[in-house]
Amino acid sequence: MASPMSASSFLKALKAEGLTVVEVGDWRDHNRNHKGPWGPVHGVMIHHTVTEGSERTVDICRKGHEDLPGPLCHGVVTKDGTVHLVGYGRANHAGLGDDDVLRAVIAEKALPRDNEAGTDGNRHFYGFECENLGDGADPWPEAQLEAIERAAAAVCRHHGWNERSVIGHLEWQPGKVDPRGFTMASMRERIRDRLK
Ligand SMILES: [Zn+2]
Repeated sequence: MASPMSASSFLKALKAEGLTVVEVGDWRDHNRNHKGPWGPVHGVMIHHTVTEGSERTVDICRKGHEDLPGPLCHGVVTKDGTVHLVGYGRANHAGLGDDDVLRAVIAEKALPRDNEAGTDGNRHFYGFECENLGDGADPWPEAQLEAIERAAAAVCRHHGWNERSVIGHLEWQPGKVDPRGFTMASMRERIRDRLK
């Protein structure tokens, strides 16, 4: 159980983890807090965007679209490993997921298979969208993977969490496949090593 860190702390934590961070527009106040609660926070969720082109990807994640208003995450990790902050607070990234998974994340235990979609994830997860087509063929450059590792570790370090507090969207909501192209097990290993 943790209160979300302030926007300033979030920025500071990312920079302290060695990341290149770009602040986009009024990211600190761009959120969906008027639609529901933000916090307590329990973990970090990783996504792929199914988009091409960094500028366009950041823009979509900031604004969202007709059916799903932005922000669609807090930070966008582009292929060059830069983290673009597009929003802070409640964001439309996690949707409804499995309460058993949430309990496992809170307890930092092995994840059960996600087979329910009744729990508000936007309330409880920090979200990073990562620029990738999500077709299994689009490469994940090492700079980008390292940035995902560092961004997730930064949040974990602040809250005193371990790597088991970091999950993929596919582990949260039945039917989701993101992120595709690397395994969350491998990413959690990297985060664990970084947090040592
Ligand atoms: Zn997703």
